Amino acid sequence: MIRFTFKDLLAATGAMPRDAGAHDELRLVGVTTDTREVRPGQLFVAIEGPNFDGDRYAADAFGRGAGAVLVRREETARELPSDLAVAVAPDTVRALGDLAAWHRSRLTCPVLAITGSVAKTSTKNAAAALLSGVGHIAAAPKSFNNSIGVPHTLLLADDTTRAVVLEVGTSAPGEIAALTRIAKPVVGVITAIGHSHLEGLGGIEGVCEEKGQLGAELGPDDHLVLDSEGDFVDRLRSMTRANVRTFSVEGRGDWNARAVRDEVDHLRFEVTRPDGAPLQVAVPLIGAHNAANIAAALAAVDAMGFRVDELVSGLTELRAAPHRMQRIHIGGVELIDDTYNSNPDSARNAVRVLAGRKTASRRVMVLGDMLELGALAADHHRELGGLVAAARFELLVCVGDLGEIIAEGALAGGMPSDRVVHHATTEEAVAAVPARLRQDDVVLFKASRGLALERVVDAAATVL
Ligand code: ATP
Ligand code: MG
Repeated sequence: MIRFTFKDLLAATGAMPRDAGAHDELRLVGVTTDTREVRPGQLFVAIEGPNFDGDRYAADAFGRGAGAVLVRREETARELPSDLAVAVAPDTVRALGDLAAWHRSRLTCPVLAITGSVAKTSTKNAAAALLSGVGHIAAAPKSFNNSIGVPHTLLLADDTTRAVVLEVGTSAPGEIAALTRIAKPVVGVITAIGHSHLEGLGGIEGVCEEKGQLGAELGPDDHLVLDSEGDFVDRLRSMTRANVRTFSVEGRGDWNARAVRDEVDHLRFEVTRPDGAPLQVAVPLIGAHNAANIAAALAAVDAMGFRVDELVSGLTELRAAPHRMQRIHIGGVELIDDTYNSNPDSARNAVRVLAGRKTASRRVMVLGDMLELGALAADHHRELGGLVAAARFELLVCVGDLGEIIAEGALAGGMPSDRVVHHATTEEAVAAVPARLRQDDVVLFKASRGLALERVVDAAATVL
C-alpha cells in the first residue's frame, strides 16, 4: 500500500493545501474514496458520483481516522476543523490518477494491464492465480477498471509487491490511453474486440481503435498479448511498437490451448508454448472460453518474466467469479449463473457452453436484455434468438423488453412455440421460472446487469 507524505500528495497532484506548510511532513498510508473503508492514517479522496457528493463525507472520514482529506470545493475545506490536513483539487478523480501515476513511477515490479470487450476479469483472475506463487501481488478487486479502480489498484502496491495486475475498461474514447499512461504496464493483454459499450465508442471499429490504445501506449521493450484468431489482430498489431505474442484455443497462437475437455465441473486442456514442454491445465471452471483466458494469462505472466511451469499449479485455486459461469448444483438441477452481464459475444458464448453440457433432461436457456447496444440492439437480439433455435434447446425463457425480440428470433429460427416463453420483467420471471424446472435440467441464466437476473437464480435455488 502506498506510503507518502502530505507534501508528496501536493507535488504529485497540484492540489492546494488549505493551510500552506502546516502538514507537509504528515505521513499517510493508503488511499480510499469510500468512508466506510477508511483506515487510520489514510488519505480520503472525495469524489463526485451520479448519486453522491464525496465532499459531504469529508468530516466523517476524519471521524473514522483518516489522516488527510482531498476535497473538491474550497468551501468544504473551510468548514472542516482547523487542525486537520485538508487539500483541495477541483477534479479529484484526476488527482487520484496523478497520485497513482507518481506512485507507479516509483514501483519496480512489473505491471500487467488487461483490456478487451469480454474476459477482462476472468483473465485477470487467471493471471492473479498464477502470480500468487511469486509472493505479494496487487490485483484489481472485483471489476475495478475505470478512472477510480485503476488508480485504486496501483495504490495497493508497494515495495514488497512482486506484480500488479490491472483490468482496464472504457466507456468513452480516450479512457484506455489515459489509464494506460497512469499504469505504465510492461505487458498488455487485449482479450477480444467485440460488441460491448457500442453506444459510447461508435461501432466495432471504434471499439478496436479504443482498446488498441493499450498497445499504442506500450514501448518497444514491452509486450502485447493478442488473440491470434481475433478479427482485429492485424490492426491491433499495427497499432503497437511492443513485442506481440498471441494466444488461441485450437488455433495458431504462440500459446495455444488444445484438447480442451469441458467436463462436469472441470476444464482440462494442454497449452503449447513457444519454448518448452506443453503445460497441462486442470481448473474447477466450466466453458471452453476459460481455456482462452488462461492461455492469455500464461502468455502474459511469461512475458512479465516469470516461470509459468512453476506457477501453473496455482490455477487449481481459480474459482468462477460471482455470477460468471458459476455452477450451482442443487436439488438435482444444474444452474449456471452467468448473470453478471451480457453482450452479443458473451451471450453467443453462453449458447455454446449450454450446448456442450450433457443432461438426461432439458437444456434451458434464460436470456434477458443486452443493454447499451444502440441502433443495432434489435438485430443483435433477433440474431441471438436464432442461435438458440439452431442449438435446439428444449426451453428458452426470455426476460425484458428486448428479451421479447430474442423470443421472436427463436421462433423465426424454427423453435417450436411451446418451447419459448417471454416474461416482461425480472419479477415475473422470479415468480414463474422456478416452478418450471425439472430434475436433471441444466439451466443457464444470462442478461445485462440492469436486469439483475441473479434474482431468478436465487429464487430457483431456494425452491429446489
Ligand atoms: P466487464 O467489462 O463487464 O467487467 P469483463 O470483460 O471483465 O466484463 P468477465 O467478467 O471476465 O468479462 O466475463 C464476463 C462474461 O463473459 C463471462 O461470464 C462469460 O460469459 C463471458 N466470457 C468470459 N471470457 C470469455 C471469452 N474468452 N470469450 C467469450 N466470452 C467470454
Ligand atoms: Mg470485469
